[in-house]
Amino acid sequence: MFHLLSYWILFYIFEINCNNKFVFKRENLLNQLKSTQDWDVIIIGGGATGLGVALDCTTRGYKTLLLEQVDFAKGTSSRSTKLVHGGVRYLAQGNIDLVREALYERGLMLKNASHLVSNQSFIIPNYKWWDNIFYTVGLKVYDFLSGKLSFGKSIRIKKSETISRLSTLETNNLKGGVVYHDGQFDDSRLAVNIAQSCIEHGATVLNHCKVKHLLKDEKNLVNGVIAIDTETNEEYSLHAKTVINATGVFTDDILKMDNPSAKNSIRPSQGIHLVFDKSFLPGNDAIMIPKTDDGRVLFLVPWHDKVVVGTTDTLLDSHSLEPKPLDEEIKFIIDTANRYLNKNVSKDDVLSIFAGLRPLAAPKDKSEKTKEISRSHKIIVSDSHLITITGGKWTTYRKMAQDTVDKIIELNKLPNKECKTKDLLIHGANGPVDRTNHLYIYGTDKKEIEKLSQENPSLSERLHERLQFTKAEVLFAVRQEMARTIEDVLARRVRVLFLDAKAAIEIAPLVGEMIREELNETDDWRMKQISEFTEIAEQYVLK
Ligand SMILES: Cc1cc2nc3c(=O)[nH]c(=O)nc-3n(C[C@H](O)[C@H](O)[C@H](O)COP(=O)(O)OP(=O)(O)OC[C@H]3O[C@@H](n4cnc5c(N)ncnc54)[C@H](O)[C@@H]3O)c2cc1C
Repeated sequence: MFHLLSYWILFYIFEINCNNKFVFKRENLLNQLKSTQDWDVIIIGGGATGLGVALDCTTRGYKTLLLEQVDFAKGTSSRSTKLVHGGVRYLAQGNIDLVREALYERGLMLKNASHLVSNQSFIIPNYKWWDNIFYTVGLKVYDFLSGKLSFGKSIRIKKSETISRLSTLETNNLKGGVVYHDGQFDDSRLAVNIAQSCIEHGATVLNHCKVKHLLKDEKNLVNGVIAIDTETNEEYSLHAKTVINATGVFTDDILKMDNPSAKNSIRPSQGIHLVFDKSFLPGNDAIMIPKTDDGRVLFLVPWHDKVVVGTTDTLLDSHSLEPKPLDEEIKFIIDTANRYLNKNVSKDDVLSIFAGLRPLAAPKDKSEKTKEISRSHKIIVSDSHLITITGGKWTTYRKMAQDTVDKIIELNKLPNKECKTKDLLIHGANGPVDRTNHLYIYGTDKKEIEKLSQENPSLSERLHERLQFTKAEVLFAVRQEMARTIEDVLARRVRVLFLDAKAAIEIAPLVGEMIREELNETDDWRMKQISEFTEIAEQYVLK
């Protein structure tokens, strides 16, 4: 009996320390949910904001639970422009503090998630000579504000150099360019890696678990949630010292669970992106157009061997998990790209189209434009002591979390403990990154995927001839990255849906079969998965 017990303990430690297979298993996480009576913190929402808060809480030593209704980064956090940036345009608006804070966080993100964040050079092409001077001076201020965490000096470049670096740029009337540096990243992969870090630091983090109601004590203070595991429909009643609403554009839904007559605090603003083949921007530099026809900024950014172009800023009256790009937004991006590129861009060239919603603070009156609505984050403490964190941006997720938890400590809802995330490496980060192979994005997990392919060479086959992703990555996503559906894998682990939506639809049956086998599901499950995924993916194909 004793031998059996010690064998089991050794096996358990081996599983946790050597390959983490056990820690990321859903059964294990659900068992923690069942066996824990009282949590210190429950976080609703598994986007950048909620995951950041969960990591902050668990590393300070609080018993932490995060619940995400669909998948990590299912909302806005997988639909960003993929920039880790201070925000050149906020600088132009004179919002120095916001820019300084974001530039500092940009530096930390590069240090702490070096496998996912890279230094990206941007060129602003100038067609008026005074723009050359204006942007050179402005970007020197940007450099200055980044201090010791600078990504590289901004410089003015001649017309000839601008053309040689941007071979598809429209050269008519071109006067020159200004080069500056910012960060570029894979947003949903960072979300997944933060979720893994949370678990490794002791938190329980579950996707496909939706919060349906808030629980309150006799003083009408929020002290827990009722959540449902959407895979099994099993309901859980969970108690905590503090509950944090980090649901992005869904913020008001939770605030209304607390107080049905609560006023709307969020107004969604939609931004869309179009993805094109790399031939539209073949070099290593990104393009930043600081002032398009209607005063917006437009980026053309190399990403996973494709080019992401966006974005727009359209105030909406409602929110959804799958927002739909508007015709005028598509036209705006294609027309603007055509104005700045000498290679003609048409709807037929669009490989994927995706829309995201910014959770902007609701304007005070209807005349307020989106540009004027605050982009900084906001912490709301309700009468019921429900804590809401909203706004901000991906780049500042860590600071938003720190401010939120500090606020909760100030309210005496948690014991005072220091924030530990400033120098905390995110799962996968460690040491220099060799970007010659597309698997670099996995950081320290790269060797695990290579091992899968060595053990079973058929796993090194590509998922689709147009894409470099392999079957091993699907298996890894299910075994180690908490992916549960075709969409989890193809939208937020290997990003095929965002890079080539038609290819994603074509490989759905293959990926569905791999997941079915791994999760020991039925053929009916697979068929349902394929049809649900195809319905979503059709929206990413521009017709
Ligand atoms: C078009 C666009 C481009 C952007 N580009 C950049 C950029 O380049 N760089 C940058 O730094 N920032 C960028 N941002 C901003 C950044 O993406 C957002 O600030 C950030 O992703 C918001 O994260 P979040 O966690 O607050 O919201 P979300 O990512 O939307 O997460 C909220 C989560 O809550 C979950 N949820 C909702 N209700 C429940 C419930 N009842 N139970 C459980 N879970 C629930 C949702 O499913 C969702 O996953 C961009 C934003 C947009 C819209």
